Amino acid sequence: VQRFQVTKAIEFCYGHRLLNHEGKCRFLHGHNGLVEVDVESQRLDALGMVVDFGAISDVVKAWIDENLDHRMLLHRDDPVLPLLQQQGEPIFVMDVNPTAESIAALIWQAANRAGLQVSAVRLWETASSRASYRGEPWNE
Ligand SMILES: [Zn+2]
Repeated sequence: VQRFQVTKAIEFCYGHRLLNHEGKCRFLHGHNGLVEVDVESQRLDALGMVVDFGAISDVVKAWIDENLDHRMLLHRDDPVLPLLQQQGEPIFVMDVNPTAESIAALIWQAANRAGLQVSAVRLWETASSRASYRGEPWNE
């Protein structure tokens, strides 16, 4: 079966810390993240595209800029949350530990909720560490 895939890379900055982590990830710290968004199709549209790269940016970069960029991504049970909120710091609250895996899944869900049928999202947390999320297969 033929299958086309396009990938858009989007950079953003975020901070986080991991609850119940034994290592240094338990401390507040930040990353220059690079997210790769894949869209797949067995067919091309009238222009010969899976989807316009700009259309991926319009959905995913806009959502990331609005919700994640330059924010602290924190578990809702994180004890530092009330203090940072009180100080007016930009926060994104998650129901799960804000790992690279969870953030990749979050972006996948946001894109698909917004109507962009994303096949996979990879988040490079550092130049050598990447987490991926692939959701339900795209039923054409
Ligand atoms: Zn980290």
